[in-house]
Amino acid sequence: MKVAICPGSFDPVTLGHVDIIERAADIFDEVIVLVMSNSTKKVSLFTIEERIGLLEKCLDKPNVKIDTHSGLLVDYAKSKNAVAIVKGLRAVSDFDYEFQQALTNKSLYPECETVFLCARGDNMFLSSSMVKEVCSLGGDITSFVPASIADIIYKRCKGDK
Ligand code: ADP
Repeated sequence: MKVAICPGSFDPVTLGHVDIIERAADIFDEVIVLVMSNSTKKVSLFTIEERIGLLEKCLDKPNVKIDTHSGLLVDYAKSKNAVAIVKGLRAVSDFDYEFQQALTNKSLYPECETVFLCARGDNMFLSSSMVKEVCSLGGDITSFVPASIADIIYKRCKGDK
């Protein structure tokens, strides 16, 4: 069975993430969406458990699982015998950092390939930070996040629980 991992912060999950995860699920037997908790991004809008809850509301393919990890990504990948780490690539600006990460992960765990899927054109400028910024300034986020979670994000950005 070919297992792939889609790692990220998902704070919160966007339509860009969902697109990459669903496309990965069409290619691999099993996809694990891995909510990483050791991100360098200090301030988060949602806790790890809340992010997992939001992902559960947006993902319904039977071969997609959700998990969390706070250590090295390759250690998790090894523990699952994963053959690939799947990342979404937006603009050229993603490339330098992603390339460094891919080479590092390859040297730590050569059996696992990093696979890049190109973002859809309409998701090219979409990021969790952009969603948070638009939302906190009162903008419409319905074309950026799955409909099932838009209200939860609005409430949190307004400062509600
Ligand atoms: P990180 O905190 O590691 O940057 P994110 O949660 O922002 O993680 O993103 C997780 C993964 O999803 C990354 O591979 C990122 O490139 C990809 N991604 C984020 N936004 C989009 C998008 N709009 N379209 C395609 N891929 C995306």
